[in-house]
Amino acid sequence: MGSKGTADYRRRRKEAERRRRQKAELTQSEPKQSDAAISRGLSLGRRDAATDCAWCDGPITPRRRGPIPKWCSATCRHRAWEQTRAAASGRSAVQVVERRVEVLVPATPARRDWPALLAELARQIDDGRIYDRDLIDLSNALGTVLKAYRRRPHVVSGSINSQRQARARQEARQGRVG
Ligand SMILES: [Zn+2]
Repeated sequence: MGSKGTADYRRRRKEAERRRRQKAELTQSEPKQSDAAISRGLSLGRRDAATDCAWCDGPITPRRRGPIPKWCSATCRHRAWEQTRAAASGRSAVQVVERRVEVLVPATPARRDWPALLAELARQIDDGRIYDRDLIDLSNALGTVLKAYRRRPHVVSGSINSQRQARARQEARQGRVG
């Protein structure tokens, strides 16, 4: 790598610049439509077969003269060169692309979030932020929640109080020990 790589890079940049100028000149001295059509017809073959970029599969602007392009742009040519160089060195070319993407993901509420969320739901229903049409979907969801809620036998049996008392007793015991 090092100086050799840099020199190689500079050489290729120079070459790319030269080709760009050459291309610009060609475009300027582009003959009339009919002439171009005739010469295209004459040069059918290899030149016309090279229509897709060897790197990105994008279209290649056909050239009447000069070397047959393999790539659609200097960028693609450079990418291909990097890949070739990496393959030769036994290492792989890694392009790190960093961009910030903001994605709104509904957070999964934790068990302690629900009372506040349900209170907010009640508020939104009351103040009309939730429309009547939303209520139709909501009633199904609430029905499902209620069904799940009632599947807890200790809730329906009212034993939630005894559980609370047991916890209070346990905390009191821990308080005495600690
Ligand atoms: Zn390309």
